Parts: sequence; C-alpha cells; structure tokens
Amino acid sequence: MTTHEFDFVVVGAGTSGCYAAATAAKAGYDAVVVERKDAEQAGHIACGDALKGAANFPDAIPKTELEPAFTNTGVDHGRFEIPQEDTVLEIPIPGELAVIDRWKYGRRIIESADEAGVEFHYDTVVQDVEQDRSGRVTGVTATRQGDAVTYDAEFVVDAAGSLSLLQDKVDFSESTFDTNVDYSQFCSAYREIVEVPEPVEWDDALVFKPTERAAGYLWYFPRTDTEINAGLGFQMNEEPMHLVEDLKHDLRNRSEFQGAEVTDKLGAALPTRRPYDSATHPGYLAVGDAAGHVNPTTGGGIAGAAYAGMYAAEAAIDALEDGVHDEAALWSYNERVMDHFGARYAALDVYNVLSTAVDVDDLMSLLAALPGKQLSEALYAGTSSFGVGLAAKVAAKSFGHWGQIYKMYQTKRVADRLLDHYESYPSSPDGLARWQSRRDDIMDDVYEVTGADAKY
Ligand SMILES: Cc1cc2nc3c(=O)[nH]c(=O)nc-3n(C[C@H](O)[C@H](O)[C@H](O)COP(=O)(O)OP(=O)(O)OC[C@H]3O[C@@H](n4cnc5c(N)ncnc54)[C@H](O)[C@@H]3O)c2cc1C
Repeated sequence: MTTHEFDFVVVGAGTSGCYAAATAAKAGYDAVVVERKDAEQAGHIACGDALKGAANFPDAIPKTELEPAFTNTGVDHGRFEIPQEDTVLEIPIPGELAVIDRWKYGRRIIESADEAGVEFHYDTVVQDVEQDRSGRVTGVTATRQGDAVTYDAEFVVDAAGSLSLLQDKVDFSESTFDTNVDYSQFCSAYREIVEVPEPVEWDDALVFKPTERAAGYLWYFPRTDTEINAGLGFQMNEEPMHLVEDLKHDLRNRSEFQGAEVTDKLGAALPTRRPYDSATHPGYLAVGDAAGHVNPTTGGGIAGAAYAGMYAAEAAIDALEDGVHDEAALWSYNERVMDHFGARYAALDVYNVLSTAVDVDDLMSLLAALPGKQLSEALYAGTSSFGVGLAAKVAAKSFGHWGQIYKMYQTKRVADRLLDHYESYPSSPDGLARWQSRRDDIMDDVYEVTGADAKY
C-alpha cells in the first residue's frame, strides 16, 4: 500500500477538478488530481462542445490557455428546427460563444494546471473515502493498476462528475450536504463527431431540434463547416430513448449527412436539476457536475464547473489558513455558487419541470408563433417588449394555445418567486433547514401550477 499526503486531493481531471487544483497550486498549496483514465484519455469527455463566456473564466486557467482548442468562433445564433410546424426559428445568442475541440480543451486545462504545479496521478480509480471519528473527510483510497493507494489530505475536492461514487461513500449524517439526489433528475446524453463531405450552410449556428418527447432534444453544433458534433439527450424520469438509434435515424434523414463518417462516440449522464443546496461537508467539497452546477435547460456545465472549482479551492484555502475544516468555514463556497449562477439555474429548472408536463407539439407550435428577437430577449435578458401591432400578430398566430401561454405566464411568476428566495440563501449552515423549508413550499406551488410530478 502506498500513501501520499497532500493539502488538496482532487478527484477527477475534468474542468472543475483542473480549476480547483490550479487555484490551490497557484496559492502555493500541494495539490494532486487523481484520475481514473490514463494520461492519453484524460480530458476526453462527452460534450456538445459549445463553450459560452470563456472571456471571463477564472484566472487560474485563463481563456488564452483554452483558445487553441476553439475551432469555430463564428457562431452567433441558435437555429431551432420545429418539424411539427415546418418552421425554423433563428434566435440570436448574446455574449461570447465558441464551438471547441473538447478533447484538445481537456488536454489544455490539464497542461495549464500541471504548469501551475499540480500533480496528476492517472490510472487511479478512487474507491472510497476516509473519515475520522468526528466525520471529517481526511482522504480517499484508490486502486492503481491493481495496487492500493491512499491519499491523506487537508481537503478532498469531489470533481468526479455526475453521480459521483464518492457521495455513496461519505457518511453525511453530520452535515448539510445535499443528499436529495436521484438519477431521475439527470439527463442521459450521447454524441458523435461526424465529418461531412460538403460544408454545411449553418456553420454560424447551434442547431436544436426537439426529440419526439418534450424532455429531450437533438443538437448539431458545427466545430467547423465539415466537422459536426451531433447528439441528443432525454430526462431520465421518462421512458428511455434509444439514443444511438434515434440519432442515426435523424442523421439518415438529413441530406447534409449523406456520405458522412463518424470519428468519435461518447455518452454520459448530466445533471439537469437545481444545484445542490449545500455541497460542503467537513474536509470535503463537491464541484461541477458532482454538485449539479449545470444550466438545466441548456445542459451547459463547463462554465459552472470552472467557477465552482475556483470558489471551492478559495474557501478551503481560507479554512486551511485558519486551521479549520468544518462546514461553517467552507460555507462561503455555497454562497458564492448560489450568488453567481446557482440561483439562476434553480429558477431555470422550473421550466424543465414544466417541460415534463406539457405536450411537445403544443409547446413547439407555441414557440413557432413567437417572434425570434423577443424570444431571445426573454430567454437571455429576462425582459421583452412587444409593440401593440406585434402583440396582436402573436395573439392571432398563437390562437388555440392561449391556455399554454397562461400556464407559462403562471410558471414564470412562480420561477421569479423562487429566484427571489435563492437570493436570500443563508449565510451559515444553521440557516439552511429553514431556508429549505420555505423553498420547498415554493416548489409545491411549481408542481401545482405546472401539473408536473414532484422532482425532488
Ligand atoms: C453529451 C453531453 C453534452 C454536453 N454538452 C455540453 C456543452 O455543449 N457545453 C457545456 O458547457 N457543457 C456540456 N455538457 C456538460 C459538461 O460536459 C459538464 O458539465 C462538465 O464537463 C462538468 O465538468 P466536471 O469537471 O464537473 O466533470 P467531468 O468533466 O465529468 O469530469 C469528471 C472526471 O472525474 C473522473 N472520475 C470519475 N470518477 C472517478 C473515480 N472514482 N476515480 C478517479 N476519477 C474519476 C472522470 O474520469 C472525469 O475525468 C455536456 C454533457 C454531456 C454528457
């Protein structure tokens, strides 16, 4: 048995793990990233390859380090194909957006963290956690090519992705760590990298298309005009889809993909749920997918993972400097996540809940009736102004869907209430139970308004 000692043991060499470890290393702490994959495969992760907002990414690994992986920076709008209505909606996407070579990106963040002083131990599968008598997590145990390895640490950062194994192992009975987690709150997704013989016309767009069920969608994201990331996913509370077959079916029916070649295939689960209410436990913090830090309506999780990694490391560094490991000392991590994006993601999750309770055809014809510019403003800025003429036109086009529109209006009101509540996220673990109880009352209203089954 080999034993290592580090200030930080980070499990997982994805975005959240690399950002957490690089933040710790740049502050002068010993950090190791323990990764089950080998050095070649590390960073090869299932993804749609769309990266939003990299200009403001944490300094630990700035955008300049990522840029060599950007293959298409000319994407500026979403192209929503609505076959039921024979309509294509072109909706501008505000802000900075790139389609990337995800594997190259994965390697870039590992190299940058390595240059910052992080150690990487590959081929090392974490199997269990170590806890002392007080319940504090003090390390992990792993297997490397058949040998047992132990890592003792001041702090363990769980960056092991969706449905992290570590969370099955930690005894959370003495902390606020969110254990209300079920596979049905996740999406099962799959993607292929497809080379097409002729350039596609939509290389400046992210293409979306509903699957036959409201809870799923297909995407076609152009890495270049001849290399397309094509994928799909569905919420796991639904009857399972046949992802590989369903994608193949759609590809076969698109003329752009005649004679195409598939060069890579990967699938994974992603959390399309609200962020964990608390992702802290003495000596332990969960980040990125391991704590539900994904925009639940788009499935975009890279940005949340990068910021969560930095916030977790910074909270743990402060705690370490004060010589403490308890939850109160780590709490600023939960607060910063909620303040930056967690509250917004929790409110967006309300629309996910709604989508499980409405008929996809109704939703699509309603969407087709709405004007693209206003829809974009509503989606990204949360505001939209309709002139009288436009409002009259929309009302006429959406005739027959007014019941749905009213339901969406009511849903937005309750989502706004939820957002307000998240803005008063407690400033210490003591306040969490009371805050959760009031939040759960608002969620009851969400289920009543949407008619959906309870998600949590
Ligand atoms: C199909 C699909 C499409 C997506 N598309 C997009 C997109 O277009 N844009 C976007 O922003 N986000 C997208 N996402 C989400 C995004 O990929 C994730 O949110 C992001 O990768 C999360 O990063 P992470 O570091 O938390 O976890 P991950 O990137 O999953 O990294 C976890 C790491 O932990 C390692 N690990 C796990 N268990 C162990 C163990 N026991 N021992 C050692 N190592 C372990 C894994 O091997 C992995 O390297 C998509 C996700 C999927 C599944």
